[in-house]
Amino acid sequence: MSLLSVIVPCYNEEESVALFFEELMKNRPYFEANDLQVEVLYIDDGSIDRTVEEVKKLKSAHEEVRLISFSRNFGKESAMFAGLEHAKGDYVVIMDVDLQDPPSLLPEMFGYIKEGYDSVATRRVTRKGEPPIRSFFARKFYKLMKKISKTEMMDGARDYRLMTRNMVNAILSMREYNRFTKGIFGWVGFKTKWVEFENVERARGETKWNFWKLFIYSLDGITAFSTVPLMIASVAGVLFCILAFLMMIFVVVRKLSFGDPVSGWPSLVCIMLFLSGVQFFCTGILGQYLAKTYMEVKHRPIYVVREEL
Ligand code: UDP
Ligand code: MG
Repeated sequence: MSLLSVIVPCYNEEESVALFFEELMKNRPYFEANDLQVEVLYIDDGSIDRTVEEVKKLKSAHEEVRLISFSRNFGKESAMFAGLEHAKGDYVVIMDVDLQDPPSLLPEMFGYIKEGYDSVATRRVTRKGEPPIRSFFARKFYKLMKKISKTEMMDGARDYRLMTRNMVNAILSMREYNRFTKGIFGWVGFKTKWVEFENVERARGETKWNFWKLFIYSLDGITAFSTVPLMIASVAGVLFCILAFLMMIFVVVRKLSFGDPVSGWPSLVCIMLFLSGVQFFCTGILGQYLAKTYMEVKHRPIYVVREEL
């Protein structure tokens, strides 16, 4: 018999906890036919509603349920990492509790593992039901990442992924504090099969992400998996040096031939303002990387457990 660990990050999801379990266990005949034992790890990411109580209730009825509860909200990235650390399974799958990652795909995904893939990833090919502006920027983000990062990241990729123990151990060896799991999956490599599905809307409750949170998250992704922005600062520096040199020649030649050194105050102000803008921009980029480095060298834990059952 082999063990499948299902990792379910939950943040204020009291309505979805039981519903998710029910949907997942519709696969029970498949699990039994394939000699798969299942453990379901609910990771409570510091919920302030009745999520923990709901999981405990579920646990009293089903022994395959486990609970890890955080001392506060650490974010989904931390919840996923905690899940991977605590999972005992030979196979591990990460799923959202809101049923946006359809449990009905699991048998198909397992089929590919049996064929010899190390990991089966999912991506949604539609984004119906999502605010158009969010879809627009999400697409742009993946396009940009493709250009500036060597790590492969698929447009519409979900965190819904089935992995073998081998791959999980590789991910666990990446103990970075600024976690961007979509990038980490790509970075560790392994033979991956992509399964596509149509976007499913959230069954219960509300999304925990707003535009601003996602924007910050995308910046985390960029700094974690690309140093191209740092290149921008250096390249801009070189370009402006060349430009300044040409300007110097121009000014000297004009003075020698026309003898008019004073005019040109407005253009001077424009150039100065523009250049100081560029300088702040570049310093900002440096600051972003420095801040990330600062957080990394502190070696703070990625999450703190308050209760484990
Ligand atoms: N989640 C979490 N911690 C957070 C935010 C979200 O564990 O700080 C969980 C949430 O409970 C859900 C999953 O991450 O299971 C995806 O969140 P959500 O459905 O809100 O995101 P969306 O699908 O809208 O991108
Ligand atoms: Mg969701």
